[in-house]
Amino acid sequence: MSQRVKHPARNAVVALTAAGMGASMVFGVGAAFAADNKTIPVSGPAAAVAAQADAQAKAAQQAAAKAAAAKKAAAAKKAAAAKKAAVKKAAAKKPASWVKPVNGYTLTASFNQGGSMWTNKHSGQDFAVPVGTVVKATHSGVVVKAGPNGGGDGPAYGNAIVIKHANGTYSQYAHLSKINVGIGQTVKTGQTIARSGNTGNSSGPHLHFEIRTTPNYGSALNPAKFLRSEGVVI
Ligand SMILES: [Zn+2]
Repeated sequence: MSQRVKHPARNAVVALTAAGMGASMVFGVGAAFAADNKTIPVSGPAAAVAAQADAQAKAAQQAAAKAAAAKKAAAAKKAAAAKKAAVKKAAAKKPASWVKPVNGYTLTASFNQGGSMWTNKHSGQDFAVPVGTVVKATHSGVVVKAGPNGGGDGPAYGNAIVIKHANGTYSQYAHLSKINVGIGQTVKTGQTIARSGNTGNSSGPHLHFEIRTTPNYGSALNPAKFLRSEGVVI
């Protein structure tokens, strides 16, 4: 009996050990399984979802960059078109170009030239032309002076005309033989306003032409330079 008593006890120990081993094994499998579970997201369906999300994000980024580039290009195109339209509008708004006051001339005394003919330096540009040559308005405007005695500027000018232009300048035509316009009259660019002559303090048939910043003597600019700046070749 004593052996029998011992046996079950020993068996019990063995059984416990076996049970312990079994428990350990079960626990080990469970741990391994748990570890496997942890690795699943890296390579399983969830990882595929994450990869796709990443790809989608990249695609979205590329699409956004492409859209931004397209928007920028469209904006640049629009700006260029607006600039072109503005230039076109400005060109359309710009009044008719200036013209020469006479044709078939010889340039004689120029602006600021000294000489016995003038009290001060020459205030205009002389165009030598035969008496009776057509004199034209160099630009559209309103006649502010017209008549003998330089239209009020003095006898040296003979018969003269002054026209006020929209850009704030005035053109003056002197030594005329005939005046075709009156004060207050609107004239067009190139319109005949007079015939050239040799009246006033003149050494020979010619048109004396001035560009002024006021209607009066003493405010003259270099008329040849002015006309050239307006694209007129003289
Ligand atoms: Zn002159």
